[in-house]
Amino acid sequence: MGGLSDQKSNRRGLRRIRASHLHLLLATIVVVAAAIFALHQNQNVFDQKLRSDVLSKASLVRAKLEGSINANIQLVRGLVASIETNPQIEQAEFSELVGSLLTQELQIRHIAAAPDLVVKLIHPIEGNERAVGLDYRTSESQRGAVFQARNSGGLVLAGPVDLVQGGQGFIGRFPVFSRNAMGVREFWGIVSAIVDVEQLYRQSGLLDDDLAIEIAIVGRNAAGGRGERFFGAESVLGDNPVTVDVLLPSGTWQIAARPKGGWDQPIPGRGQLYAWLLAAALLVLGPTFIMGRLMDERQRNIADMRERKLELERLSRRLRLAVQASRIGIWEMDVQNGELIWDDRMNELYGYPQDAGIRNYPFWARRLHPDDKVRAEADFSAAMRETGRYHSDYRLILDDGSIRHVRAIGSVFQDETAPPRIVGVNWDVTEDVERAEALNMAVLLSEARNAELESIRERIEFNALHDSLTGLPNRRYLDETIAEHAKAFAEGREVAAILQIDLDRFKEINDTLGHAAGDAMLVHAANVLRQAVWPTDFVARVGGDEFVVVRRARNAALLSAESLADLAATIIVKLQEPTLYEEHECRIGGSVGIAADTDTIADATRLLVNADIALYRAKRNGRNCFQFFSEELQAEIITTKQIADDIRSGLERGEFVPHYQPQFDAQTFEIIGVEALARWEHPQKGLLGPAYFLKVAEELDVVQEIDSRMLEATVAQLGVWELQGLRVPQASVNVSARRLHNADLLAGLRKMQIEPRRIAFELVESIFLDEHDDRLMAHVDELKSIGIDVEIDDFGTGYASIVSLLKLKPQRLKIDRQLVQPIVGSLAQRQLLGSIIEMGHSLGIQVLAEGVETMEHAHILQRLGCDALQGYALARPMPARELIGFANERRLRKAS
Ligand code: C2E
Ligand code: CA
Ligand code: CA
Repeated sequence: MGGLSDQKSNRRGLRRIRASHLHLLLATIVVVAAAIFALHQNQNVFDQKLRSDVLSKASLVRAKLEGSINANIQLVRGLVASIETNPQIEQAEFSELVGSLLTQELQIRHIAAAPDLVVKLIHPIEGNERAVGLDYRTSESQRGAVFQARNSGGLVLAGPVDLVQGGQGFIGRFPVFSRNAMGVREFWGIVSAIVDVEQLYRQSGLLDDDLAIEIAIVGRNAAGGRGERFFGAESVLGDNPVTVDVLLPSGTWQIAARPKGGWDQPIPGRGQLYAWLLAAALLVLGPTFIMGRLMDERQRNIADMRERKLELERLSRRLRLAVQASRIGIWEMDVQNGELIWDDRMNELYGYPQDAGIRNYPFWARRLHPDDKVRAEADFSAAMRETGRYHSDYRLILDDGSIRHVRAIGSVFQDETAPPRIVGVNWDVTEDVERAEALNMAVLLSEARNAELESIRERIEFNALHDSLTGLPNRRYLDETIAEHAKAFAEGREVAAILQIDLDRFKEINDTLGHAAGDAMLVHAANVLRQAVWPTDFVARVGGDEFVVVRRARNAALLSAESLADLAATIIVKLQEPTLYEEHECRIGGSVGIAADTDTIADATRLLVNADIALYRAKRNGRNCFQFFSEELQAEIITTKQIADDIRSGLERGEFVPHYQPQFDAQTFEIIGVEALARWEHPQKGLLGPAYFLKVAEELDVVQEIDSRMLEATVAQLGVWELQGLRVPQASVNVSARRLHNADLLAGLRKMQIEPRRIAFELVESIFLDEHDDRLMAHVDELKSIGIDVEIDDFGTGYASIVSLLKLKPQRLKIDRQLVQPIVGSLAQRQLLGSIIEMGHSLGIQVLAEGVETMEHAHILQRLGCDALQGYALARPMPARELIGFANERRLRKAS
């Protein structure tokens, strides 16, 4: 927005600049035009004055010329008159006459008289003797002019001509007429007067050095303005000269004149004129410039004002909209007279008609909730009296009985003219209040839920470490205890012995008298063990009918072979004592294998394995006896090595293949997936399960290898089934902890380009024990991101924190069979399972129950809302090729 208005103001600025420049430009043009005009006028006036100056000077010359010539002519006319009265005049008389006339200062060089056109008289004679006797009628050069004078009867002026005597002269020829004896006027002859040109010019001032004008004269032989130039320079004629005519007795001359040096004369006072013009220009342009500036400023101010007005309109429009949209009611009260002004929304809020009617304090007070009334009124009066600021929350009861939560704020203000007023707003906060209440409720609920979760966790944790039937510690607990001991042993702090006890005849009782009897025997055995051991001993149930006693002591002296043998013997004896089960006398027995750190080949971490080996030997030796682990038994370990070698070659030969156990929808019992379980198709020993090879494989660190083969085979198998017309929606594979941590795992998976959601990874709960590291989380997230589902396997056997498991957001929990199996007999176990299922669902996690061994289990799980089932009751693991038949058979059975 800022950029836009900047642009706008820039454009406006440009326009303003142009306007003010235009003013200045116009003013400049006017001023320059005026200056040019003034200079032009000045030039004109000067030119005219110059011309009239030249004219007056030329006129003066003309006057002098005319004067001189007339004076000469008058003189000669006098002579002519004398001759007319005395035609017989002789040279002497002529000379005397002319001599007397020429005394005056005239330019006549000489005068000659030619009676009958032959020169007879001349004065002065000296220097002109040659002219006497010249006959004009025979003189080529004179004849024309002479005849012209005679014929016209008047003076004919010719010249200037080059004179025989040298120099130049004008020649005036006067015809002379005389009266004969009879008184008749007849032509006498010609009198010629020669006027010296130079003298004439000098007399007329033409040759003055200080003559300010340059003159040329045209009209040789008095021929007028069109005649030939005989004085001055040709250039004067072409330079627009001033002309004056010189009037002669027989025609005219024309004087052409110009100032000396031509017309281009410096104009006096020109510099001053420039100075004046400049001053005038500044006087005009300066104020124009300033005025332009002021006008610009004014335009800008007007534009700014308009902009501000628009902005104000925009703002108030927005404010109006905002107030409307916010549903805030506005009120104003005159503090002095209690008059209230409410807007429509206030009325709406308080359930009054929007009639713009008068409102006052009672209108407000009437609506207050009785429980809030006192406080609300107190808040208001406190604001009026003390603080000037009003803030109150209260409830209203409307006419229809509904309750509305209102928040009111306001403040007192006073301006100079009006009495003090309090202005404020009200708005409906009912939703907020309700939401806050709901939130509080939710917090309470979730706290309760957390407590419940915590108790579930504790129970699971206890379950995780204890056997539900006997209440004894379980296998896991035992493993921990042994690990703890191994550490203490390594530090030299303690030694320990392990007694591994296997019940004899248990299976028989179980099979003949039923599970319940079997269970009773197990409880009995547990009690026997509890009583036989020292209080510091550790007793655990580690398998169906297997128990372990751990005795830890500070030194070997407390772990004598005798005392261990005693314990074993006591146990065996006590176990053999008959017990009653529902009036049946039941007898069981037991075999004991013993291993201790005190052995020559002591290895704390291998105690259990060693005791197991000893037990195996004890059983083989016959029932109800015990056996110490020995060197000899050590040899059996070597067997394990053989198994290890065997596994290696088995892997090389590709003898490890998956078998598939179907998984079923708990409601429809349709096959929704399979779990791939590793099997060893041993060339000699036949089909072997993980129980046979997994432990050793782990020691060999080849479980990853097995896992990856199972995955590859399973992915391929999904395709094969598909080709055979069986679509298995999903297959789960087991993934060991090492494999999950393997950095190359994901790259390998990406390369396989597995179709999304077709493969699920089962991660045993124990993987997440102590694993709070984010790397693992990231791995799991990446698995999901490439379309592989994640399931928590054996859920409920470990004590990984439930919260951290749920944080992984697995697609599915697989509840371990340890938790599933007791649900038929135990209400508490059913409830526990129900809670787990509910919790899973509340987080959008599916729940599958493992170890569904009977249809009763299946139906209970169905009722508890479990999503999927897996177990022997529905299907055992089977080779891939058998699955087709299995699925088809089910389909057929269903159809029929
Ligand atoms: P698991 O993942 O909990 O697999 C389920 C085991 O329970 C299987 O034993 C299966 O045959 C058995 N089972 C299925 N239904 C029932 C039932 O109704 N009742 C009883 N009592 N058992 C039932 P299996 O195949 O012997 O596998 C044992 C364990 O070995 C598996 O437990 C799994 O932890 C591990 N395992 C199997 N295959 C692989 C594998 O490819 N890789 C890895 N890392 N572990 C594997
Ligand atoms: Ca599994
Ligand atoms: Ca499992």
